[in-house]
Amino acid sequence: MAPSPFILPLRPQMKHQSGFVNIIGKPNVGKSTLMNALLGENLSIVTNKAQTTRHRIKGILNNEQYQIIFSDTPGMLKPVYKLHEKMMEAVDETLTDADIVIFLIEVKETKIEEELLTKLQFLKVPVLLVMNKVDETDQETIEAQAAHWKELLNPTEIIPISALHKFYLDVLLKKIVQYLPEGEAYFDKDDNLSDRDMRFFASEIIREKILLFYQKEIPYSVEVKIQSYKENQDIDVIKAFIYTARESQKAIILGHGGAAIKKVGTEARKKLEEMLGKKVYLELTVKVIEDWRNDEQSLKRFGYDS
Ligand code: GDP
Ligand code: MG
Repeated sequence: MAPSPFILPLRPQMKHQSGFVNIIGKPNVGKSTLMNALLGENLSIVTNKAQTTRHRIKGILNNEQYQIIFSDTPGMLKPVYKLHEKMMEAVDETLTDADIVIFLIEVKETKIEEELLTKLQFLKVPVLLVMNKVDETDQETIEAQAAHWKELLNPTEIIPISALHKFYLDVLLKKIVQYLPEGEAYFDKDDNLSDRDMRFFASEIIREKILLFYQKEIPYSVEVKIQSYKENQDIDVIKAFIYTARESQKAIILGHGGAAIKKVGTEARKKLEEMLGKKVYLELTVKVIEDWRNDEQSLKRFGYDS
């Protein structure tokens, strides 16, 4: 008997994969740019100043076959304030709870700290050495650098990319999927783009504007805390505190006749409105907490204890 024409060949059973991919690297190598490019959304704030990303941020990339949970981390640096120590703890946490570690460097970098080298070499999970900013160099340098890093670190893979220009991101994604463990999704696939809520994004956006509009140490001496966030049908009402470590810094943040703070408020509001697709009322109040960066209580309150 002829086989029924209605029986379709069985689709090969696809196994589901899921895991945590943590991106580490020095300040300014392009960690936030990379994560945003992979996710296609501006989740993490990106500026050309060091230390923009203070907390770990998770962004989730889903499709039928996999769920990849990315963490962007504070850049690695030597602790100066207590604040920095807390940031470094976040980096260590990144190394221990990852399924895959992306060690991001600028393609021209040649050195790695002894301590970090040891940590990376002892990791049991795959380490992908990703050389960013290849748009700024030539083929020869890329190849020489790849050889250099193979010798120095011997990572699982070496992948050159440009996060900014989205070069070879498809190659990187394929490699990530290749090493991603089999398993069920960790987060609901329908809604989770990030496990951080709008309060967090609101404070990050305000901080981004402060980084852009003020000079020198000012951006690093302030912290932003959302006092209240009320979601309404047509407008979100957000009240935020900007904490400075000294009176003199408060005066700078406010600016002449309050002009500087007004600019921060306007620009942050515009970005929030764009992101939310609705109107936003944003109220900023500047307060002083003497030397908050060395105050355990304040650091806890600002969420650096997790
Ligand atoms: P992070 O501190 O590691 O998170 O670095 P950011 O993502 O904030 O990027 C730091 C700077 O490097 C920004 O000015 C980015 O635009 C720039 N950048 C990131 N990726 C690339 C790239 O592929 N090529 C070039 N030329 N610049 C890049
Ligand atoms: Mg960053």
